[in-house]
Amino acid sequence: MRVNKNFEKLLEKYKEISLLKKISAILEWDMNVNLPREGAVERAAQIAYVTEMLAEKWLEPEFRNLLKKAEAGKNLSQDEAAIVRNLNHQGKYYFKVPKEIIIETAKTAAEAFMVWQEAKKQNKFLDFAPYLKKIVTLNQIAAKHIKDSKNPYDTLLDLFEPGLTSSFCSQIFNKLQPTLTDLVRKIKRSKKAKLEGELTNRELIYLVQDQRQLATFILKKMDYKLDSGRMDVSSHPFSIPLGRHDVRITTWYRERDFRESLSATMHEAGHALHEQGINEEYSQTPLEDESSLAIHESQSRFWENQVGRHPEFIKFLTPTLQAFYPEQLSGVGVETLIYLFNQVNPSLIRVEADEVTYNLHVALRFELENDLINNRLPVEKLPSAWRTKMKKYLGIVPETDREGVLQDVHWSLGSFGYFPTYTLGNLYAAQFTNKIKQELHFDEVVGNGEFGTILAWLRENIHRWGSLYSPEELTRRVTGEKLNPKYFLSYISKKYGQIYNL
Ligand code: MG
Repeated sequence: MRVNKNFEKLLEKYKEISLLKKISAILEWDMNVNLPREGAVERAAQIAYVTEMLAEKWLEPEFRNLLKKAEAGKNLSQDEAAIVRNLNHQGKYYFKVPKEIIIETAKTAAEAFMVWQEAKKQNKFLDFAPYLKKIVTLNQIAAKHIKDSKNPYDTLLDLFEPGLTSSFCSQIFNKLQPTLTDLVRKIKRSKKAKLEGELTNRELIYLVQDQRQLATFILKKMDYKLDSGRMDVSSHPFSIPLGRHDVRITTWYRERDFRESLSATMHEAGHALHEQGINEEYSQTPLEDESSLAIHESQSRFWENQVGRHPEFIKFLTPTLQAFYPEQLSGVGVETLIYLFNQVNPSLIRVEADEVTYNLHVALRFELENDLINNRLPVEKLPSAWRTKMKKYLGIVPETDREGVLQDVHWSLGSFGYFPTYTLGNLYAAQFTNKIKQELHFDEVVGNGEFGTILAWLRENIHRWGSLYSPEELTRRVTGEKLNPKYFLSYISKKYGQIYNL
């Protein structure tokens, strides 16, 4: 890294922030994977304490001065300019929001997470509602302190994805929705859809131990470094970097459906491969993270969908699947498996949604969040608003809040404005894949299971750069243009047109 003297001191100070972020992440990882229910309050206090230390580091006058000095320097190198950009973006929350609110938010979120887990299990939205109310209020207060914006939700969106606004999100969803809704309608009327369910309805058990072994096989194929990570089980799969050489993932297992753990594992490993591929020189500096959450998500959705649901990949995987599940899958041919991995069916749960309906789930959350933060929707009315929008977007209505408003972890963690990055991730993934196809024989490479070739491309073009480039710069460098939803739309129409013979 090329930086001058002012930056050296700044980077030294930042190292403390980086260390505290990782320490906080370990507490969070453990909360998700191991924490006994009764440990919630103590853990919340521990997380709040580390958050306070973190806020203090950001607010240290010496650190702020070093940043100001660095910023004022002339002819900043590329590294220096990126450091300033990232610190200002990451620091915004700490610089502008009063420390008490930051600590209160961290504490509330840790408690709310444990309450949410239980409320979801027992299908009791009312138990979670008071926490959610408080989280909405804390987000509104934070947004107000950060920026006096016409729409406070824009301020929250920007915290997750630099520069993202609600009007841009609306534009994107308005572009996606007609094509996706039309595609779903055509698929439903197709002959192939009528054959559906034949296999998934069979009463078969896929042992968790077999699923775990298969997931590990895939992780190794993808070259996820198990010596620099580990895989556990959690109620919502996630990946988390605890250091450049400790990037962990979680998955989940459904005894009746072997596909869920496979998709979740490939998704989270996609995130982790990005982390394991960031230039080591950037470790413990403001460039150690991803360019943005949406870019990070593009990597998970790439492996989960562009590779994991690619017909050629299923062909490649079929003998392995049959070896792992000889009784369950004997006599099930490649074509059936391709179809099983790409079944389109409006369903209740976002993380299990197919590629065609997935973004409709995100559109619904985007609208609800926007309404909650702008006081157009009270928390009490959220479950019914959820059902109304499910009907509108997906044509189905959940019977329980567990399968509705309580399904996702994000709100319990205090995150408002995160969901739209999922859709952007899908769009980026399709745009990057379009580029990969110009440079590699993608279908063949996937069909031969040559994941090393694909990973090398991702490493060179995306992973290694960490947060050196903004998402727009990175996308222009890789694809020659900024984010363009047309690549996703043409990918989805073509692929599902073929699979369903439309
Ligand atoms: Mg993800």
